[in-house]
Amino acid sequence: MIELRNEQQLARAIERAKEIKPRVKFITFGQYHVQGSTGGFYIVTCFKRNGIRIADCDCVAGMRNKPCFHAVAAASLHSGIASMR
Ligand SMILES: [Zn+2]
Repeated sequence: MIELRNEQQLARAIERAKEIKPRVKFITFGQYHVQGSTGGFYIVTCFKRNGIRIADCDCVAGMRNKPCFHAVAAASLHSGIASMR
């Protein structure tokens, strides 16, 4: 579980996301498939808890609660969709 509230902590993941520009597939509201650097897809779940944006990624880093670029990429799509609701 990655809390998306500290830009500094996310800086590396944001940089990676900008560099790699991973493909993000919309599955359902709050659930996305994000392509990893080796081509496989990871499942990212985005939701809000107590007003804090959370992203859950099933990659190795995400499972250790480390911010990964998959989570950042999915979260940016998610917040765009959420703002249209
Ligand atoms: Zn990940």
